[in-house]
Amino acid sequence: MRDKDLYAQILGIESPWQVTSVELAVSEGEVTVYVGQASGAKQCCPTCGEVSPGYDSRKRRWRHLDACQYKTILVADVPRVKCEEHGVVTVSVPWAEPGSGFTAMFEALVIDWLKEASISAVSRLMGLSWNSIDGIMQRAVERRLARREDISPTHIGVDETAFKKRHDYVTVVSDQEAGTVLHVGPDRKKATLKAWTTI
Ligand SMILES: [Zn+2]
Repeated sequence: MRDKDLYAQILGIESPWQVTSVELAVSEGEVTVYVGQASGAKQCCPTCGEVSPGYDSRKRRWRHLDACQYKTILVADVPRVKCEEHGVVTVSVPWAEPGSGFTAMFEALVIDWLKEASISAVSRLMGLSWNSIDGIMQRAVERRLARREDISPTHIGVDETAFKKRHDYVTVVSDQEAGTVLHVGPDRKKATLKAWTTI
C-alpha cells in the first residue's frame, strides 16, 4: 500500500478529498499530509448547501493525532465559494470544525484526556497552549448546545477532575450512551453543573 493510500485510510479522507502527498521530517518528528480535491469536484455553500461557483482557496493546517510518535499535520487548500445568498464563504471540511486548527479526532482525544488529567498535564503532554485547550473546550460546548434537544437526561455522566493547582480543573458532562461531550465547565463546583442544567 502506498503511503498516500495508507494515510487516506488512517485519516478517513474520502472523495472528493484525497491525499496528494506525504512528507516526513524526521529531525522535526513531524509528518505533513497534503490533502486536495479531485479536479471538477462540486463545491457547496456550508450554510445553505447550494452548489456554488468556486471563488478561490485558502491554505489551512490542522494538527491530527500523532502517528507512531510523529506529530501529524494535515494541510489543504480549502476552496471558498461565492454563494448567491451568503457571499464568499469557505466550504466545510469533513475532518474539522470551522475555525479550528485541530482535526475533530484530535479534539475528541483532548476532551477524553481532560476527563482524566489536569489542564496543565494535557497541555504539557500534548504540546498545547492553554488557549488551544480552551478553544477545544468551547467548541465541545457549542456542539452540545447545537444538539441540546437530543439530550436524554437519563444518560448523563459527570466527570469531575480536580488538580493540584487551584484553577487547573474542569467539569466534563458527557452523554454516556452517545459518548459525546455535553458541557465543559471552568471548575468543579456544584454551580458549574447547575449552570449547565439551567441553560
Ligand atoms: Zn449559501
